[in-house]
Amino acid sequence: MTRIAYVNGRYVPHHEAAVHIEDRGYQFADGVYEVFFLHHGRLIGEQGHMDRLEHSLKELRIAWPMSRRAIGVVIREIARRNRVRDGFIYLQISRGVARRDHQFPKDVDSSLVLTGRRMPPLNKEELRQGVGVITIPDIRWKRHDIKSVSLLPNILGKQQAHEAGAYEAWMVNDQGMVTEGTLSNAWIVTQDGELVTHNVSHAILNGITRLTVLEAAAEAGIQFSERPFSVAEALAAKEAFVTSSTSHLKAVTSIDGQTVGNGHVGELTTRMLDLYVDFIENHGGPQNTSSWN
Ligand code: PMP
Repeated sequence: MTRIAYVNGRYVPHHEAAVHIEDRGYQFADGVYEVFFLHHGRLIGEQGHMDRLEHSLKELRIAWPMSRRAIGVVIREIARRNRVRDGFIYLQISRGVARRDHQFPKDVDSSLVLTGRRMPPLNKEELRQGVGVITIPDIRWKRHDIKSVSLLPNILGKQQAHEAGAYEAWMVNDQGMVTEGTLSNAWIVTQDGELVTHNVSHAILNGITRLTVLEAAAEAGIQFSERPFSVAEALAAKEAFVTSSTSHLKAVTSIDGQTVGNGHVGELTTRMLDLYVDFIENHGGPQNTSSWN
């Protein structure tokens, strides 16, 4: 089967898909993206991703390349043409193609690119196998609420984690607080059983998976706190996990080489994974998607 990509109005074979060398996404990382997860043929969290995309575009003053509804059609068409029932759709919008000048170009259409990737279906067994994270300084800019394609610090952090034999790197700000992972949100369960993840602010990307897990917790009557937590608090935690559209809800059993809790995947983590999967199967994603910074 030939993989098909969407590039500025055309469906093209993946190996031929290309953007112009003066696309501002390529030259300046002047663009934004979203990664949509498909679960058993269902597009998860579409409204949340679209609302967040709108926020990113608005903050950067990039125009929608086409309507939300039309983008929804292209997403489904890319899923269909690539036979993605379980997997991901990647969407990127850049400010467009123009002579290389820093200021915004005039009268230029934004660029739109989509690709699809098939993946094995979500596997709870695998997600329950604990992974390690390391902590690194958060050296990024100050607008993590914008889903910018400018991901250098995230790439360097993820590579550092990989080389350390860890799954993810948790980024730590100047106050010693964990903001988030390089591609996921960070969560702990304190010794008192409090479920904690960083509050929505410019310091984190408000994950669609994060929102889903919070709504699933609320639905099940599980208390949670949205607040920063320190590295010391994380090291003393009973449980930890990460969430993202590509990692789902993955148990963390070590931080900087130190075992979390008793080293086994925690009770609440296991419960939250079950609740998360039930929630997306029942509701298709978070229902309340209005808070982006
Ligand atoms: N934080 C960062 C920095 C990310 O890159 C991601 C994944 N795009 C997330 C959090 C999680 O977001 P989501 O649950 O929407 O995938």
